[in-house]
This record gives sequence, structure tokens and C-alpha cells, in this order.
Amino acid sequence: MPDLQAVVQEIAAEMAQRPDRGEVAHYIPELARVDPQLFGIAVIDADGRAAVGGDADVPFSIQSISKVFTLTLALGMIGDRLWQRVGREPSGNPFNSIVQLERERGVPRNPFINAGAIAVTDVIASGHQPRESLGEILRFMQSLARDPTITIDGAVAASEKRTGFRNTALANYMKSFGVVEGPVDYTLGVYFHHCAIAMTCRQLATAGRYLAHSGRDPATGYSVVPAERAKRINALMLTCGHYDGSGEFAYRVGLPGKSGVGGGILAVAPGKASIAVWAPGLDAAGNSHLGRIALERLTKRMSWSIFGD
Ligand code: GLU
Repeated sequence: MPDLQAVVQEIAAEMAQRPDRGEVAHYIPELARVDPQLFGIAVIDADGRAAVGGDADVPFSIQSISKVFTLTLALGMIGDRLWQRVGREPSGNPFNSIVQLERERGVPRNPFINAGAIAVTDVIASGHQPRESLGEILRFMQSLARDPTITIDGAVAASEKRTGFRNTALANYMKSFGVVEGPVDYTLGVYFHHCAIAMTCRQLATAGRYLAHSGRDPATGYSVVPAERAKRINALMLTCGHYDGSGEFAYRVGLPGKSGVGGGILAVAPGKASIAVWAPGLDAAGNSHLGRIALERLTKRMSWSIFGD
């Protein structure tokens, strides 16, 4: 088995030099200012050893990666009743698409496209002040990452709110079908803010460990979710975690993973490691261009694809 730290270092060195860096997200003005030269990677193995490279300790906007954690929280609150409000099928459409909502009576295809994540956030926000729900999401992230300093980037949240016409349309459309139950502005406020949580690769890889270890955080022995639920969240990450690039990600990387338009990807090698990569430039489907390539290299070198060598 190759030395993990050496492999991670090699990947970071290669990624730092590649000229093809993708395009940073422009539709959220604050994200358009991020330097596309940055690259970070953190891998935490089953024994808790961290192998890190590049800008692994620079915080970035986790964006849609937060949807893995809000899904975990919402399932903890209402269990399988969540599936009356959101489906479990890949969408085959862009992350912010509205077309399927009309055909499916306002029920979004899966919890990771924007509409689905807004419906999940509505479950968490229900009956609470936005500040309370956000506090709960943030505390969950802090406890999983074992780092109380994790915060929300207020400038990113404000930037997204100011320009979030499409997400506002999705939320209102779902509200018209009763899929969003709470006040639309409350639900969207919580959604924009949890997308704007800033974390480093090291923090994110730490937070994702329960998904790699049957729902249990090996550092504390604490069961975050039952093993069956971790398995199911991983299945959704594999099939839906990269929008309409999910098939390509499974084909090339072979791991459950969730990307965000900030350029981060959280990936899970079940039983082996929790992995976070960050490269702000995106491909045409809105997924990190170099992040995906780095993960492809890593799974190949370590033989970590869930589909075999
Ligand atoms: N906050 C972003 C949005 O709603 C999330 C999209 C993403 O990361 O893919 O547009």
C-alpha cells in the first residue's frame, strides 16, 4: 500500500502546477473573488491520522457540501417522513433547475439539488426562529469537526441573498405546493447562511468521518447516525452529489462525494478515510475541476474506489 502522506503531497504538487483550473463561480459575487490558484487536500484515515497538502488549512465557502449535514439533521428530526417532501433520484439537470418541480408537484428530485436542499432546510427551520436553526446547524458542524471556531461568512451569505433570485423562485414554487411549509424568507435565510459556512479541508474531512465509519465518529466513539442511515446518505452522495456530473464523478472517482460551488468536495472511502479537497475553479456542471482530478488520482493510487481496483 503506498504511503498516504506521500501520495497526498504528490497530488498537491501536481495540482499546484496545472494550468487548467476551471472557472470560479460568478453568480455569487463574493465567490467570484476567490483566487483560482488555491488548492487544498486533507485525508483522515481510519486511525485518525491526517495527511494534508496545499492550502488544507485555508477556510473556504462549503456551499452545497452543507447539504450533507442538513440532510443528516433533518433525518434525525423526522426520519423517513422526510421522503414525502423530497425524492431520492438523480436529477440529470443543473443544480438550480426548476423544470422538474412542475412535473412532480413541487417535490424536488433529491436533497442535494438546490430545491431539495431548501425543502430539507425548511424541515429543520420549522417552528424555530432562523437564528435558532442556524445555531443548531453550526453547532452540529463544530461538534463533528471538533472545532468551535467554525463560523458563517456573513459577506458570502449577504451576497447570495442579494442575488438569489432563482433560489427564491424555487422556494416560492415549492411553497405553492405546500412542500415548503414555513415562511419562505425564514427558510431561505437559513439556507443561504448554512451554504455560507466557511471551513478548511482539514475541518471538513474531520466532520465527514461518521460517513466513512458506519455512522460513528471514531474519534469519540459517538454514534452520529445509525449505520444504515450513513449507508443511505453515502448512496445519495454517490448518485446525486455532483448534480448532472454525478455519473462522471462515480465513473472517474468511484466514491460517494458532495461538491459545492465554492470548489470543495467531501468524499467518503467507506471504512478507510474521509477526504476533503478544495480548488475554486469549476467545470461546466459546477463541480470543482481540479478537486475531481485530485480525487481520481487519490482513489487510483490507494485503490479506494468502491467499485474495485
Ligand atoms: N448556495 C448555492 C446556491 O444555492 C449552493 C450551490 C452549490 O454549492 O452547488 O446557489
